[in-house]
Amino acid sequence: MIDIQCQGCGADIQTKDPKQPGYAPESALEREEVICKRCFRLKHYNEVQDVPYHDDDFLEMLNQISSNEGLIVQLVDIFDFNGSFISGVRRLTGNNPVILVGNKMDVLPKSVNPGKVKLWLKKAAKEQGLKVEDVYLISAEKNQGIEELSKAIDQQRKGRDVYVVGTTNVGKSTFINTLINNTSGVKDAITTSYFPGTTLGFIDIPLDENTSLYDTPGVIQRHQMAHYVSDQDLKVITPRKEIKPKVYQLNDQQTLFFGGLARLDFDSGERSSFICHFSNEMNIHRTKLEKADDLYENHLGELLTPPNEETLEKLPPLKAQTFKIKDDKTDIVFSGLGWVTVPEGDITVTAYVPEGVKVSLRESLI
Ligand code: GDP
Repeated sequence: MIDIQCQGCGADIQTKDPKQPGYAPESALEREEVICKRCFRLKHYNEVQDVPYHDDDFLEMLNQISSNEGLIVQLVDIFDFNGSFISGVRRLTGNNPVILVGNKMDVLPKSVNPGKVKLWLKKAAKEQGLKVEDVYLISAEKNQGIEELSKAIDQQRKGRDVYVVGTTNVGKSTFINTLINNTSGVKDAITTSYFPGTTLGFIDIPLDENTSLYDTPGVIQRHQMAHYVSDQDLKVITPRKEIKPKVYQLNDQQTLFFGGLARLDFDSGERSSFICHFSNEMNIHRTKLEKADDLYENHLGELLTPPNEETLEKLPPLKAQTFKIKDDKTDIVFSGLGWVTVPEGDITVTAYVPEGVKVSLRESLI
């Protein structure tokens, strides 16, 4: 065993088995900064290779945290709370205090009220059994809110270690790179990527002589939308810029398709405006409810894209769930895709998503 860690992902470097994590050819060991073949390819060709880690191994690694003392910083993707919140996180973090961080706020439309986002995140975490000390909103990519968060981390860690946890694709590597860049000026210290599952092993970033900030492995959540779609489709459904809400005036018995990945039927209620918050590249299609099944059956992957061909091979069938909404303005949230805001009133809708992906309701963020 060679005692060197990959500068990209933190895996132990080995030169024996190209199929296992941390593989690097002998020649790579001569470089000052060694990175494994997988990170090398990722960095230079933006290519992802599968690594045979199982979800249980990730959880096992994370489990080590509960026996240590420190501050937990849990990142979630504001756009995919259900998909990016680690279920059972309490068990993993032990009694350590937790700061919850909502990342990717740069894609939220201006109409969204940040105060409401924070309240919602806090409430949603509580419903999952996690009491958090505080909630912060950041954009790791745009370096927004990071300074405030850094200060809070420094205050609340009280001289102890910091563990950054999150599921794959929440932007954990980007966050840590931004942190490092802000303090040391080093760019891209950790490999980032578009695709889930690229951070392995613990990465240890010294905070002072005795304590460190640890980047932990990204936990894989199977029901994340990101796992059901091809890399190309992931680029389409992931918002890259501020979302421009699209408004549809709908009568009952009309349907909206979000590509062919989700569907919303307006079963009953007064004519209302449905405000759709999805990636600007998402193709939204309106039709009559009576025609919706046919359209889906005959035009999935053509008129209704994404899915593209590759996604179609692994996409589970759509599953329906009916909601009666009587409250104030409400968001119907399609985890990992976006949400539709419906006005106050008495309406019934049926939402469809690939089996395993979550649909939930929340008080509107606007
Ligand atoms: P990790 O798997 O949690 O380490 O996530 P990465 O840091 O690799 O990021 C996953 C994806 O989210 C990449 O495509 C990033 O470009 C993107 N991302 C990360 N942070 C942000 C952010 O603040 N805003 C936006 N819009 N995208 C982000």
